[in-house]
Amino acid sequence: MDVALCTINNTIYDIATFEALGEPTLSQLRRHLLCPRCLGAGYYRKAARSGQAACFGARPHADYCDMAGPESKTCLGDTLADADVVNSGERIEVDFDFGAQAFIHVAESHPDSAYGRSARGTGQGGQRTHTRQRRLSTLLKNLMFSEDFRGSDQLISVDTGLFPVREFFVPFAQARVDERGLMRGYWGLVSDAAATGDQPPSLWLNTGGRQDLSVVVGADLVDDFTQRFPIMELEDLAGAYVLVFGCVRLSKNDKKYIAVSDISRITVNKVM
Ligand SMILES: [Zn+2]
Repeated sequence: MDVALCTINNTIYDIATFEALGEPTLSQLRRHLLCPRCLGAGYYRKAARSGQAACFGARPHADYCDMAGPESKTCLGDTLADADVVNSGERIEVDFDFGAQAFIHVAESHPDSAYGRSARGTGQGGQRTHTRQRRLSTLLKNLMFSEDFRGSDQLISVDTGLFPVREFFVPFAQARVDERGLMRGYWGLVSDAAATGDQPPSLWLNTGGRQDLSVVVGADLVDDFTQRFPIMELEDLAGAYVLVFGCVRLSKNDKKYIAVSDISRITVNKVM
């Protein structure tokens, strides 16, 4: 899209005017952008070394929005394929094993597996629940593109327990520091990324909006991260969506962050 709405000063910018703001204003304002038409979460990308011009984008645009023109790269791949739709009747188990194939098995609702085996044979095991393993990337797509999924009561099973989807997954904008350190699936748009700190640096994925929350990939995980989610430069992460399993903490200078504990606990959906 050619223009973006900045919610800090309620101003619509074109690229030239936006870039004329210069640093550090631009760095601040780029975390507060929306599509002016449908108010979809927006982002700004600097010109790429590969020659791609600086641009605004929003993910996703509303179906009716005409700002996602055919020239816009942001709309490519921004749909939920039928094969990726999580059915409302299934119980979800998270597949952290990257590259593993999704499979379906039928579990008895009775927790005693020995009882379950016999019950399966006699057909007296009570109600059957279909449990299906789902990869993080699939869960993130459903969160991005399916309002039904975001608000659903279906259960997701993780190592800390069994939770309704609508409680387990938390948009970055609603993330709160949890003193109990409970794990949740936090997700949302990355406005920009930065490599900061000691050598080697950590990777900070900054989220849009007023919540001032960042997802931190520690220095020891940065190589794994860039192998799994290849990028040419940090600007490639502007406009990406991230789902991370972890908990929100507060740094010494009151900055909210989620530290990635294991590379299998994060997934990235980049702008195509
Ligand atoms: Zn739009």
